[in-house]
Amino acid sequence: MERRDFLKTGFWSSIGLYLASRQVGCAFETEPDGLARAQSWHKSVCRFCGTGCGVVVGMRDGKIVAVRGDELAHNKGMMCVKGTMLAELPKLEGRLLYPMIRKDGRLQRATWDEAMTLVADKFRETLDRLGPSGIAFYGSGQLYTQESYTANKLFKAGLKSNNVDGNPRLCMASAAFGYVQSFGKDEPPGCYEDLDHAACFFIIGANPYEAHPVLFERMRLRQKADPSVKMIVVDPRRTRTAEYADLHLPVLPGTDLMLLNSMAHVILRDNLADLEFLNVHCTIQDAAGPTTLDKMRAFYREYTPERAAREMGISANLIETAAYLFATSPATMSLWTMGINQRVQGVFLNNTIITLHLMTGQIGRPGATPFSLTGQGNACGGVRDTGSLSHALPLGHQVANPEHRHTVERLWGLPPDTLNPEPGLHTVDLFKAMKDGRIGAALIMCTNPGQTLPNLDVYRRRAEGCFLVVADAVETRTTELADVVLPAALWLEKEGVYGQAERRYQLLQKLIDPPGEARSDLDILVDLAKRLGQDSLITAHDPEAVWDEWRQMSVSTKYNFSGMTYDRLKRERGLQWPCPTVDHPGTRRRYVEGDDPLVTPGSKIDFYGKPDHKAVIFLRPYEPSPERPSETYPFLLTTGRVIQQWHTGTITNRIPALRDVTPPASLEINPEDAHRLGVTSGDAVTVASRFGTITLTVAVSPVPRTGVVFASFYDADVLINRVVADYLDPISKQPDYKTTAVHIRKA
Ligand code: SF4
Repeated sequence: MERRDFLKTGFWSSIGLYLASRQVGCAFETEPDGLARAQSWHKSVCRFCGTGCGVVVGMRDGKIVAVRGDELAHNKGMMCVKGTMLAELPKLEGRLLYPMIRKDGRLQRATWDEAMTLVADKFRETLDRLGPSGIAFYGSGQLYTQESYTANKLFKAGLKSNNVDGNPRLCMASAAFGYVQSFGKDEPPGCYEDLDHAACFFIIGANPYEAHPVLFERMRLRQKADPSVKMIVVDPRRTRTAEYADLHLPVLPGTDLMLLNSMAHVILRDNLADLEFLNVHCTIQDAAGPTTLDKMRAFYREYTPERAAREMGISANLIETAAYLFATSPATMSLWTMGINQRVQGVFLNNTIITLHLMTGQIGRPGATPFSLTGQGNACGGVRDTGSLSHALPLGHQVANPEHRHTVERLWGLPPDTLNPEPGLHTVDLFKAMKDGRIGAALIMCTNPGQTLPNLDVYRRRAEGCFLVVADAVETRTTELADVVLPAALWLEKEGVYGQAERRYQLLQKLIDPPGEARSDLDILVDLAKRLGQDSLITAHDPEAVWDEWRQMSVSTKYNFSGMTYDRLKRERGLQWPCPTVDHPGTRRRYVEGDDPLVTPGSKIDFYGKPDHKAVIFLRPYEPSPERPSETYPFLLTTGRVIQQWHTGTITNRIPALRDVTPPASLEINPEDAHRLGVTSGDAVTVASRFGTITLTVAVSPVPRTGVVFASFYDADVLINRVVADYLDPISKQPDYKTTAVHIRKA
């Protein structure tokens, strides 16, 4: 069947993933007979979501002619509908082919030398005028690791600016802070293989059916293999994921810390906690510092299911059942993503999910683990691990910690006390600083903040004289704001490493040349470094050399992936760190003896990220969201994804087969609410919040609960983020995209 016809059947949206993976063989041709005509096959990785599916790419006469799921990779040959379109990327409409400089208000063609000379001059002038705090780099969880690493080193070690941040701040900063606080180290302890062993899936603030379809299919296969496996879904919408749940808790947006604390209440009240595990492996902490088990019991006592149920608009019975299933299942695996991370209490929510696992001993066994899902293919490996955020340094080090700075200075071969001790600006502050003139020159790579920032109209503005450079493969709502646009290579037009959510690093080798004059982001960064006089610092110029430098840096740290040589990455289907020697198979479950080589022998479980080798149970009080329904703004808007499109649709919405099957982003509204407002599907409505107003089309649907409306953020014409609130989590500085009070009126 032709892909276009296959998509039109609609199969993919209900059972198509399974069909694609098992019956169609998950192989798709981009040329007639591509599968049969391919002369060679090359292992690679999907460029889209954080699942990081392995794919095999068929080539003929130097062209990509087919792509299939890699049976030998962790995804066992499965791909979702987006992955099946990978072979279209070389033919993507509207690629940027040459550099452009804005002249007379218009972006006009330039040579690379003209563009890069101008960029270097502007950065140099800004450094003279404003100092290192006046320049910035804004990166992406889609850049390759070598690219994020080089940008971070150039700006922090070379130009002495810690204004290095990126889109993972918008999607997983709260998860990263949560892991560091609870375990002392970032990144999930578990792995995808845990999906095959879990007896209870606790899915909260995530819609994996649409956003991580291959992982969701793996959960469904587990359920089919063992019908006693339970699935709990916490979501204000009855999503496609929730349709498969044994228990769906449609909580009001912004209230789920109340739910988690209430589950802890039930677990302690009914003696479902694993106190032996807790005593041996955990410490307890409240806002004042270390505390006792008795204080913990007292803290949770006030979170009765009855009180929580009133706050969340669900029945107390649902909370009791969820707590029992979570605590008593042979192995519970929690999965969460933006619904938890993009919240004012995002770090507290992450802490508390981990706390439930620690309290019940649901960790360190196959299938028992907290596991945060990741939005982008290389947010973990590229940005979190390399420390490419404004507060961070590579390998879990922090800018504000003098010892950490000294360690990184030694690893980078810098004289002592030469790294800037002041953390830089996090994403929202960085764009605020562009608006008020504190940032004079910024480079944005491989991301689209002109569409993704909350309270968008405010942050799309720039001060007169703030010079903006954007490198991307296609025109976006961000390139339209730039003074210089640099054409970037995409996917297999360049080479690099992606690191996905289970700590697995995978190599993507270059197979084709980029179109026109496009260059890899690494080439652009190396060029900029030379022009800014940083050639003695940025000495690794190709992906393998950068990887080796980065790999060697990890030797003395708890990340240690020095055993992942480039040669191994070329041969193997990715490796999970820690991986300290060239013969180490990689670590599936962290902190577990026999699996993790860093565990103290004889300890069985060793939370070695903390000095006392114990994980922390944090007692985190629930606070109501700053955005609550009111008379003026009676609805809560929440945003998210659709299965056909990835992020802002800059790539997927340029693929005709996907574009054809994606309706424009609309406002999903419950039939009861629609009736009250006197609107029906297809009507135009004005949606107004305290932050902005937009007009969009109604889609009446039973998916959201009453009082809640939903819109996807993929649509560049709708720009839903113009109305979304920009409150931040005070610890992670991640914006709360999930709870905005709005007013709706028929337009
Ligand atoms: S988009 Fe995600 S789930 Fe789909 S094929 Fe790519 S990596 Fe796999």
